[in-house]
Amino acid sequence: MLQILTDIADFFLPRTCHICGCRLRESERVFCVRCIETLPRSLYHLMPLNPMERRFAGIVPFVRATGHFIYSRNSELAAAVHDMKYRQFPSVGRRLGEIVGEELNMAGFFSGADCVAAVPMHWWKKARRGYNQADFIVEGISEATGLPVADVLEASRAHKTQTAMTLQQRLANLSGAFRVKDSDALRGKGLVIVDDVCTTGSTLRSLAAEVSMAVPDCRIYLLSICVTV
Ligand SMILES: [Zn+2]
Repeated sequence: MLQILTDIADFFLPRTCHICGCRLRESERVFCVRCIETLPRSLYHLMPLNPMERRFAGIVPFVRATGHFIYSRNSELAAAVHDMKYRQFPSVGRRLGEIVGEELNMAGFFSGADCVAAVPMHWWKKARRGYNQADFIVEGISEATGLPVADVLEASRAHKTQTAMTLQQRLANLSGAFRVKDSDALRGKGLVIVDDVCTTGSTLRSLAAEVSMAVPDCRIYLLSICVTV
């Protein structure tokens, strides 16, 4: 019965790949297999002291750090990320989270991690946008890895958009922007902090500094779905 309903729904509202627009097979969701295969991987998680880890080494404590897909402007991935953030397509975030979660899980990236948390968005910004795209990414990662989502971080104040800022300006802009709201839940635990796009690393760096100050024995993993090179 369910299959018939699915077939009927697919006839009137065909599900299409968010990148190439082709019709999705039954087993595919949001993206077709071919588009998933061609997304540019950094493979940073296979490298010792990878370029993402070098952004944080000696500055904040962390166990592992990686950015999974290489992000470049005007790419198909950038368009999908833009839709995820600004055009009410949180399903794109969830699917990207699942894909990244599956691939990194198979490679053992999450070994020693206990929970995942999104880079928090200030309530005012979230109210205006309607959602925090990183929450959906983290749901997808949780689904793929079995790691629970931890509601432990919050944005304590709104900060300006950082697109045109230098690293130093970004760090000043983010100073005091995040807070650990449940430090007990993180004692002795491994926390994966998840961002959508990492450019200078200032957001993850600020959060890692905040978490390590509030909970010194928390093991921190830094993960961005996309990374610029
Ligand atoms: Zn496609």
